[in-house]
Amino acid sequence: MAQETSQAVCRKCRRAGEKLFLKGEKCFTHKCIFERRPHSPGMLDSQRKHRSTVSEYGSQLREKQKIKNAYGLREQQFVNYVRSASGKRGGDPTKELFSSLESRLDRVVYRLGLASSQAMARQMVGHGHVLVNGKRTTVPSYRLRSGDTVSVRQGSKDSPLFVGDAVKNRVEKQLLPPWLSFDAKKFEGSVRAHPSLDATVMPYDLKAVIEFYSR
Ligand code: SF4
Repeated sequence: MAQETSQAVCRKCRRAGEKLFLKGEKCFTHKCIFERRPHSPGMLDSQRKHRSTVSEYGSQLREKQKIKNAYGLREQQFVNYVRSASGKRGGDPTKELFSSLESRLDRVVYRLGLASSQAMARQMVGHGHVLVNGKRTTVPSYRLRSGDTVSVRQGSKDSPLFVGDAVKNRVEKQLLPPWLSFDAKKFEGSVRAHPSLDATVMPYDLKAVIEFYSR
């Protein structure tokens, strides 16, 4: 995926109308563009005051964009996840979608606090810094299963990506979902169970996304 400019990343938050926290720690500083300009890019002052009511289609579209951006996926990748989740017989598509998105290796790296943003996690995996069950894995979409371990390659442990107080604090303070655990001494995460929507609060409306694609 081509590298996006910093402003292009922040535009996604402005379009979504809320902070998506796509740039890690920077999102919590005064550098956050959304804090200063929380309206859509290109919107005039007069338009901001008279923002029209959003249609059902519009709100589903917005939700879809928001989730796609939060997970750092291209449209086709996201469509594939939704189709696969909707095609599972007897399953709840919303739960299936959540589980497959949360099982991605880059997502788990981000959730463990090894990376400060989803984009950074994707890069770490792509650059070969991450091991799954002791083997180097460079595919960000790699699907993790219960019992898998995620660690940092020995040769990468001294990289600025993984040393320093900021990293230590982030990993220690990271709030892990119930299906993940992290051993700070070994600097290794484990997938304890299948990611479950029932076990966490989902900040996105996945049902709206399923409906958007089933039109
Ligand atoms: Fe940019 Fe992060 Fe602020 Fe979004 S939340 S506008 S990505 S700095």
